[in-house]
Amino acid sequence: MIIANWKCNGSKKMIHEWVKEFKGTYISSDELYLGIAPAYIHVEYLADSLTSNDLDIKYGVQNVDLSSGARTGAISLDMVHDMACSFSLIGHSEMRNIYGETNENISGKLDLIDKGLDVILCIGESAEENHNSKTKEVLKNQLQVLKGRNLAENFTIAYEPVWAIGTGQTPTSEQINEIHNFIKDVVQSSSGSNAVPKVLYGGSVDENNAQSFFNEDFVDGALIGGASLNGNSFAKIVNLYNGVD
Ligand code: PEP
Repeated sequence: MIIANWKCNGSKKMIHEWVKEFKGTYISSDELYLGIAPAYIHVEYLADSLTSNDLDIKYGVQNVDLSSGARTGAISLDMVHDMACSFSLIGHSEMRNIYGETNENISGKLDLIDKGLDVILCIGESAEENHNSKTKEVLKNQLQVLKGRNLAENFTIAYEPVWAIGTGQTPTSEQINEIHNFIKDVVQSSSGSNAVPKVLYGGSVDENNAQSFFNEDFVDGALIGGASLNGNSFAKIVNLYNGVD
């Protein structure tokens, strides 16, 4: 599974170039869950620009609210479905740190898993927590929102150390593998369904380091920010994942 998170980037001009670059490099695969989450306003334009018989791409949103109505600035599940989007990120560290999203908000949004939305829950520790060897404690706390839930195939976790996002720094691939194994264990023992979720790695993944992460047993794919803004780089990473480089 490979997901692009475009954050608050992009324009119709950028998308025009991106699609040309992506199509020129990407080698299509039927097996892969390949998703792109541009800004809401660009979903339709991107989907129209990318349309092609041999491309199976899912579109998604970077956030969704748990209900509709008096919630200025938010978008609801019905709106997400109207845009033909099939997934949403939830709990991205930028939503937690800039917009004050809490475990309680996130827990409410996780009910959308049962309403047909593919959910990617983002978790990760800060630099300070990492330096103080608090990583596992922090992740365990963030995973509390899953306690007793019945998790199905449409639920995925993205491990994104906050200090690795957009910095060019990453844990080693061995460290990532160990943390992914830990996350799978914690979720399996605390969820209602004993399900083992897919776990993606996110944080400064690029075409040079991606393969080392993909080689690890417990890495089920990647969530990619900066490097996904260039169609050529993103396609190269996806090709590496598919083993067709
Ligand atoms: C992200 O913020 O989801 C992310 C993965 O960003 P980047 O790849 O730019 O570190």
